[in-house]
Parts: sequence; C-alpha cells; structure tokens
Amino acid sequence: MTDFDKLANLLFPQIDKTPEYYENMYPERQLKEGARVSRFSPSPTGYLHFGGLYAATASMLNAKTTGGVFYLRIEDTDKKREVDGGVEAIVDGLNYFGIKVDEGVTGENSESGDYGPYTQSKRAEIYQTFAKDLVSKGLAYPCFCSAQELEEIREAQADEDIKGYWGEYARCRKLTYDEIEKNINDGKSWTLRLKSQGDPDNRIKFDDLIRGKIEMQENVIDVVILKTDGIPTYHFAHAVDDHLMRTTHVVRGDEWIASVPLHLQLFRTLGFKPVKYAHIAPIMKEEDGGKRKLSKRKDPEAAVSYYVEEGFPQESVSEYILTILNSNFEDWRRANKDAELSQFPFNLKKMSVSGALFDMMKLTDVSKNVISKMSADKVFALSYEWAKQYRADLAALYEKDAAYAEAVLNIDRGNKKPRKDIAKWSDIPDYISYMYDETFKPCYELTGNADSALAVKVLELYIDAFDIGDDKDAWFERIKSICEPCGCTPNVKEFKQNPEAFRGHVGDVSTVIRVALTGRTNTPDLYSITALLGRDRVLERLQNALNFFREEA
Ligand code: GLU
Repeated sequence: MTDFDKLANLLFPQIDKTPEYYENMYPERQLKEGARVSRFSPSPTGYLHFGGLYAATASMLNAKTTGGVFYLRIEDTDKKREVDGGVEAIVDGLNYFGIKVDEGVTGENSESGDYGPYTQSKRAEIYQTFAKDLVSKGLAYPCFCSAQELEEIREAQADEDIKGYWGEYARCRKLTYDEIEKNINDGKSWTLRLKSQGDPDNRIKFDDLIRGKIEMQENVIDVVILKTDGIPTYHFAHAVDDHLMRTTHVVRGDEWIASVPLHLQLFRTLGFKPVKYAHIAPIMKEEDGGKRKLSKRKDPEAAVSYYVEEGFPQESVSEYILTILNSNFEDWRRANKDAELSQFPFNLKKMSVSGALFDMMKLTDVSKNVISKMSADKVFALSYEWAKQYRADLAALYEKDAAYAEAVLNIDRGNKKPRKDIAKWSDIPDYISYMYDETFKPCYELTGNADSALAVKVLELYIDAFDIGDDKDAWFERIKSICEPCGCTPNVKEFKQNPEAFRGHVGDVSTVIRVALTGRTNTPDLYSITALLGRDRVLERLQNALNFFREEA
C-alpha cells in the first residue's frame, strides 16, 4: 500500500465505494446523435429570479430542441445561504412558467429520474468517493491551515501576480503521512485541496458557446474541493455531478467564467470528458440613459413572483423571454404566428454577450398581443384563477354571473385585428369596470366636436329612438338617423369638406353615447356593450348623462 492509499483510508475510512461503482450506476445516456443534456441548478437561496428563469429557459430549449434531456438539480451545499421553502419557490416558479423538467427535483423532498439524488446535500458519499480516489492517486491532500495562516499567506503575496494557495505557498502540500496522521489524531479539522498540476506559464483555450473562443491562464491554485464538514465546494460538485448526470452542456451565469480553467482541470484530473460551456450575461435594465444589472434588491420585476402577482399569463412571460433570448425570435414569430414556442429553433450562439435588456414596455406589448389571441373562456378561466388569489373583488364580480363576465371579455375578441387592452389580469378590473353598476364611474368628459349642448340634443333624440332589439346594422342606422336632427352629418367625409356647416359628425354623436354609457371616449365595440348592458341600464345611464349635460349646457 502506498502512502497515498494509506492517506486515503485515513481521511475517508467510511468510504468503501469506488468511482467505478458510480460510473456503472450512472451509465452514459442512450440518446440520439446530437441530443444535448442540460440542467438548471440553482441554490435554494430565496425566490426564483427573472435571470434564473431566463437561464432555465435557455438551458431547457438547448436540450429540448435537440431531443435531449433537461433536468433540475438543487445546489444546497452552502447551508448558510439556504432559505426555508427555497426549493418549493424554485419548483413552483418553474412550473408556473411552463419550464418542464424531464428529471430531477420535483419538490422539497421528491425527485424523479435515474441519475439522482439531484440534491447535492444528499450526495456527500459520492463526492467523498471521488475525493478519496484523488487522494489515493496523489492528486488531492488535506489542508490544516487556520484562517489566520491563510491570512498570513495573503499578506506575503502582496507582490505576486497569482494569489492564493499554490506552489510554494501551499504549505500543507508538503506534509508527510506521519505529520498528517498526527494532526488528525490531534483532532485538527481539515479541508481537502486539489493538488493542481497546472503551470503558471500555460494558457488554456476553450470555446464558449455564447462568447466564442476564450483563452485564460491555466489554474495553478490548490483550491478547496471538500470543506471541513466533508461537503464539496461548488467547483468539485459541479465536476462530479455534471459528469455523473451525464450533462453535455452547462448553461450558467457568466460569473463562473473565471473558474472555467479550474473546472476543466478538475474534469481532466478526475478523468472525465469535459462538458461544453455556455455562459449567460446578466439581464440588464436601462436607467438614466445608462445600463445596469437587473437587481434583486432594487427591481420588483427581478422576482418572478412579481409576474404572478400582477397576473402576467405564463405564455406572455415565456414569449417575452424568447424575444430577449434570441434576436431572431420576433422574425420567426411573424412567420409562424401560431406555432408553439418549443418549435422555435433556439440557438445558444445567438444569445447576447453584453446582456439582454429587460424592457417592461416590451413585455407589456408582447403580453397584450398574447392575450388578444386567447379565447374569452381562456381569459376568463385564467383571470378568475388569478383573481381568487389576488383580487377578491374581481372574483366576486365574476361569480355573480360567469356567462355575463365571459361575454364582456369576449367583446371584439376573434376579430381580424383584436383589440389589445389587457396586458395582465390586474388590468381587467379597470377594463370591465363600466360593465358593472358596482364599479361604473360616470365621467362625462367629451372629445372632438361634441360639447354639452350637442350632448343634450343627442341624448334626447337617442333616448326616444333607442331600441334594444336592434341588430348591429339597425343600431348604427339609428345613430346615423339622429345626426341630422341634431345638426350633425352621418358622413364624416362631408363634415371634413365643410366643417362650418355642421355641429359635428356621426363620430361625435357616437362619442356622446359612448361617454354616457361607459364614462370613456375609447372602448371596444359600443354595440356589443349596449347589447350586454341591456335596455334598462342603457336607458338609465343615458338619462343620468342627459341630466348632467342639461345642467352643464
Ligand atoms: N448553484 C450555482 C448558482 O446558483 C449554479 C451554477 C451552475 O449552473 O453551475 O450560481
């Protein structure tokens, strides 16, 4: 037995498995040529961040568009940063936004798939098996340096280009077996460090799928791979997990770019085939003419719960994420109006290197468009679900008469050019307010050529003429028929040619009626509104408006 083998047994007496055991347990995946395996592997540190959703979408599409596998792994090795309910927040957030995982964590204590456990805290034995193997090959060693000793090393390195535990500074590299055994018998705590085989004069090259070719100095630092409690650092867990879970593509935040030389070294030292990397730039936001990162602290829209609470439908958020993920998405969408998002030929290479820009106006537009294409029963069902949780008053209105509510939401829906009034469910209470007496707020402000005197005339005539039995054509003819008696023309062109000759045109007459019935100058189809309000409410509102304008005129 070599000293290294002895050391491995001294450090890891409880480990009786070998890397081969796990290699056999998690065989290569049998996928078709070119199929990619990607993952989303957040730490459960609180809520799901918009940037996380964005990265998860990229990673999912990367796998799905190649017929591969997308899975969720929870990286909970840093217990200090963990938050209660953090896993649920991630799982629920992904579910809500339609990110479907093929395998991995599915809840606080549940998972599915053959490559688990998918929660790092449940994998201690696996990491230690690979760590023990490195020790037995002389590629890792225990370090007993205290925080104070590490500080001394830092101070001594003031003039060094390369800082950290390496080369001559790596004191514990030189410890003999006997020295180590004594330390352990004395009960000293230790971390396990990689014995870096790197050379400061070597540079490594790799091809990042988003950023292209990158060249960096090779890693020479003897980084910690297991902490004093035997739990791995991110770096070591990344190598072991992504290898054993047979990941082909690591799509992650670009804060990890600087660690790629170390990661590639770890893969090589462990005898693993390296993964391909795609490093995503952070989501940016425009502010005061400049750009800054979307911030968890400053921006409410950074938390995905914001979109849930505001009532942005999942489809809108997903559609919006695609628009900022790949710049060719909008062209594709124009050519494939009704296609499923999963059909979009997503390409990691087309992602922004400088960081996609978050734009609330754009999200709003995208969402209005998405909602304008939904059927009324879908709008009703989704907004009702939302209202039950966030707007009890809207839910109560719906519950009074669901068929009426759905008919209100159906106005102008299905037209060639559907209106785009609703961007999120929280817009609905205002949008439909005039269709309910409880929420209708009269507001008699006129626009165009209409004034109070004309309004009095129009309303007097219309109250007499109004017939709830009219179909749409008859209804419009009736409005036209009152134009002349009140000094207006039913013909807008005629008015434009000779404005002096009239008090207004049919548009002004309609405005008066619209304002009387809805308190607004811009609404969806007034005929549908009239028909749904019904005879009594129409007459009552016309009369109330007439009374108001009589006082004004
Ligand atoms: N747990 C790491 C993080 O949240 C994940 C990085 C990765 O995807 O590898 O930053």
